[in-house]
Amino acid sequence: MANILESDIKFLPGVGPKKAELLNKELGIFTFRDLLYFFPFRYIDRSRIYSISELAPSMAYIQVRGKIVSVMEAGNTPANKRLVAILKDPTGTMELIFFKGIKWVKEKLKPGSEFIVFGKPSEFNGTINMVHPELSLTTAEAIFGGSPIMGVYSSTEKLKNSGLGNKAFAKLQYTLIEKYLSGVPETLPEHIMRRKGLTPLQTALRNIHFPINEHELLKAQTRLKYEELFYLQLSLLKQKSIRTSKSGGLVFKRVGDAFNKCYSSLPFPLTGAQKRVIKEMRADMCSGRQMNRLLQGDVGSGKTLVALLTALIAIDNGYQACIMAPTEVLAQQHFKGISKFLSATDVKTGLLTGSTKTKERKLLAESLKSGELDILVGTHALIEDSVEFRNLGLAIIDEQHRFGVDQRSKLWSKSEITPHILVMTATPIPRTLAMTLYGDLDVSVIDELPPGRKPIQTIHATEAQRARIYAFMKQQIKAGRQIFIVYPLIKESEKMDYKNLEEGYMNIIEEFKAPEYVTAVVHGKQKNEDKAYDMDLFAKGKAHILVATSVIEVGVDVPNASVMIIESAERFGLSQLHQLRGRVGRGSEKSYCILMTGYKLSKESRQRIDLMCQTQDGFELAEADLRMRGPGDLEGTSQSGLAMDLHIANLGRDSQIMEDSRRLAQEILDTDPLLEKPENRVLREQLQLLRKVGKEAKDYSQIS
Ligand code: ADP
Ligand code: MG
Repeated sequence: MANILESDIKFLPGVGPKKAELLNKELGIFTFRDLLYFFPFRYIDRSRIYSISELAPSMAYIQVRGKIVSVMEAGNTPANKRLVAILKDPTGTMELIFFKGIKWVKEKLKPGSEFIVFGKPSEFNGTINMVHPELSLTTAEAIFGGSPIMGVYSSTEKLKNSGLGNKAFAKLQYTLIEKYLSGVPETLPEHIMRRKGLTPLQTALRNIHFPINEHELLKAQTRLKYEELFYLQLSLLKQKSIRTSKSGGLVFKRVGDAFNKCYSSLPFPLTGAQKRVIKEMRADMCSGRQMNRLLQGDVGSGKTLVALLTALIAIDNGYQACIMAPTEVLAQQHFKGISKFLSATDVKTGLLTGSTKTKERKLLAESLKSGELDILVGTHALIEDSVEFRNLGLAIIDEQHRFGVDQRSKLWSKSEITPHILVMTATPIPRTLAMTLYGDLDVSVIDELPPGRKPIQTIHATEAQRARIYAFMKQQIKAGRQIFIVYPLIKESEKMDYKNLEEGYMNIIEEFKAPEYVTAVVHGKQKNEDKAYDMDLFAKGKAHILVATSVIEVGVDVPNASVMIIESAERFGLSQLHQLRGRVGRGSEKSYCILMTGYKLSKESRQRIDLMCQTQDGFELAEADLRMRGPGDLEGTSQSGLAMDLHIANLGRDSQIMEDSRRLAQEILDTDPLLEKPENRVLREQLQLLRKVGKEAKDYSQIS
């Protein structure tokens, strides 16, 4: 079935080869479909005409009707040469200003002629003006299809300069809709549309571009969002059901010595949440299906121990386990922590990182191959080809978002039967996003912190309070506590960032003089030995202060540290701030997080800082982050395989539609797993089509 929407965009009347090339390059529009599904990103109500006296510089784009009173050229340098026209309506006058196309505009703006001008009001020297407004003689000219609400399409300078401004763009859409919309097939089955009260596709597409009123616009948006999220969920769930039905998993029925000895030697009881999560994973590993589980838990919730106990189940059943961490520091930390918990058992563990010496590497490789080694902890070094397990039964990946997808799948392929997979993340991911990012993973959440943790008091401060902060630090050190000071480090501004850290460090050792005070420093430019040395100094309580870049973000566990000072906190994202703050508050002492910022903050930065001061709940912060920034920017998501580009739905704002459409998708698959029923034929075809045009949700959690 040849679909008209697959036609090359150059064949649309008004486009042609040259404009087609621009549309390809600038907007990724290649076909009729691409254009039709390129929706306005906002709308302007053009049914309303404002009077000049009501205009304010805070307003968005609006229109005014008036008469040209006078036109004159102003400015004496090429840079500020401009044309200024005075427009008058019964309520007042305003200036229209043009820097470009002066000759052409002058011809058009004859004094005495009447115009509708459309633009954004601004103010200069107490006079309201509009720069480069759109000019039209009548309103009707600007309106296609009788729509009083005008869509605004995102565009680029190049497109605008090549005659593809908003008006021209809308005209193309109009042509497309008038000529071809009637041939566009419906993409949702009748029964879904009826049940959910959704507008037919053709109506929705017309109204998304040329809404006849607000109500119809809303209906169009709802329909298109529903469809988008529904197909996303349908394809994820379908892939999941295929995987779970065909891939058998190792069965770990036994709970034996390793588990029991470790468990009974723990210095504290597990939290309820830890117990529950271990049970969930145990059930997975007994089910005969391969486990693919995401373990979420706020920083400090005790994920490492849960992971270890799960690994011990694998070991009790005669298999090996590995734990992969994103950084060397963290791998070491895991190794130490785990070894401590294992002292009562005879489980053998090894550590493999980039800096493991060749000789030791060899020994590790041998004992891994022979099966003598039970647990291998490490960094990326684990996925090198030379690393061979005898029988890997469980692969645990910590701080998953730092690993690329390919790296993960390399780990899977290390054993004949796919091992069980446990992915741990301390970045709380809102449910809606988790459903999509990890569409086919099961999710466990540790939603409880070990008892006795005191809340962390979070304070916002600026340079003016520096002396008071120093005094506070001294008081804390005197009380036996330790202090983190963290500097941002971003690739783009690396040089400057290192300079800031350097200066900060100098100030600290100046203020906190040795030998009374010991200050350690850790950053990416150090040699591994130096880093390890300083880290160790701090971890063992021999240094009072640790100055570091955000490398400590993931995982360092120093319960005696009670103060976290974050420099230039406005430059960190919410989830990063939260991760950093989680480094303190692990002991029984009251802890503090001090967010240092510049005096002037953007609105968003202030929101972030305020939120941090208000709440310590990682999920609440993550939800807020998602709302504020959208999922594209959420830390980690770029790497974690959000392989769909949503045209209209927003994972932050449209979570209800997402959940509803997921339920519906599941319900349909439950009764018709292969989508073979006649009423679901459209669904099967649509999934195939989405795959063909590369818009299918990719399932990266699957083994490739
Ligand atoms: P996460 O990796 O989730 O950030 P960790 O596993 O590093 O958290 O645990 C943080 C600290 O809490 C560690 O020192 C760990 O030994 C300790 N811990 C873990 N579980 C418990 C528990 N049930 N009770 C008390 N302390 C715990
Ligand atoms: Mg951890």
